[in-house]
Amino acid sequence: MGRQNRATKQKEAIKFELDKIDSFFNAEELFERVKQKEKSIGMATIYRFLREAKEKGELFTYLCNRKTIYSKGKKSHCHFECEKSGKIIHFTIDNIDFLKDKIPGTITSFQLEVKGICKDCCKK
Ligand SMILES: [Zn+2]
Ligand SMILES: [Zn+2]
Repeated sequence: MGRQNRATKQKEAIKFELDKIDSFFNAEELFERVKQKEKSIGMATIYRFLREAKEKGELFTYLCNRKTIYSKGKKSHCHFECEKSGKIIHFTIDNIDFLKDKIPGTITSFQLEVKGICKDCCKK
């Protein structure tokens, strides 16, 4: 198989796995999924694919717990971190009208980090 063919096949494999993900994911998670079927895949190929997809506007990136995470459709990354257990819970804010008055422009994506004590830890 030629070099070009292999690259195309790897790209197809990444796209196939990407189609099945509908929450946030990181590069390692995507790599592990693709590797199940496409053993020759390398981490560098995954990173290149993600970078290109981001440039095309097909993926959004956010910072979650100091790690880059990706999302296909989510224009926001909102997470709640428990200060006691370190547990992270993601949630979605659909209505961002409350922000509109404060932002001098159009909002394309946003990130929100909330800290507190989770229900489980409150019980203890
Ligand atoms: Zn997060
Ligand atoms: Zn907790």
